[in-house]
Amino acid sequence: MLRSLGAEVVPVRRPADLDGVAGLVIPGGESTVIDKLTRMLGLAVPLRERISAGMPVLGTCAGLILLSDRLADARPDQQTLGGLDVLTRRNAFGGQNESFEADLRVPELGSRPVHAAFIRAPVVEEPGEAVQVLAALPDGRAVAVEQGALLGLSFHPEVTGEPRFHERFLAHVRAA
Ligand code: GLN
Repeated sequence: MLRSLGAEVVPVRRPADLDGVAGLVIPGGESTVIDKLTRMLGLAVPLRERISAGMPVLGTCAGLILLSDRLADARPDQQTLGGLDVLTRRNAFGGQNESFEADLRVPELGSRPVHAAFIRAPVVEEPGEAVQVLAALPDGRAVAVEQGALLGLSFHPEVTGEPRFHERFLAHVRAA
């Protein structure tokens, strides 16, 4: 998705990989595993430093969990990188069988709705004052939030070919 939008993309696996990047995508997957690996590989501390220094980050699904300051239904030893002043609930809809697709209204991205894939998805239950809710479910729970250059999504826009959140992330990267 990022390449198709003209960005140069490198994987970040070690602290040194971070030196050359102007922005970061924390993808979906399993947040407990990403947490463990970032700590084991010495990435957690430099990532926290870059995030507090203003590096733009797009976190999708597990990536949103990693960006959250507070978690519900986390594993007891689970840590996050933080940055987004939100309480995020993991697996808010249940397991893999409760995964679904839905159309979301996202006024910031224009009038065409976003078709979104929710895969063992989290939701944001308590967005703080500084957090802008970009999209919410009909019951009011937030599924897309932004705070400064940090963008957190419950769903996977890349799975349904929705480019507008990645465009917004790249605009943050250019602005930074
Ligand atoms: N449920 C996963 C977690 O807690 C996230 C799922 C996903 O990234 N699609 O980490």
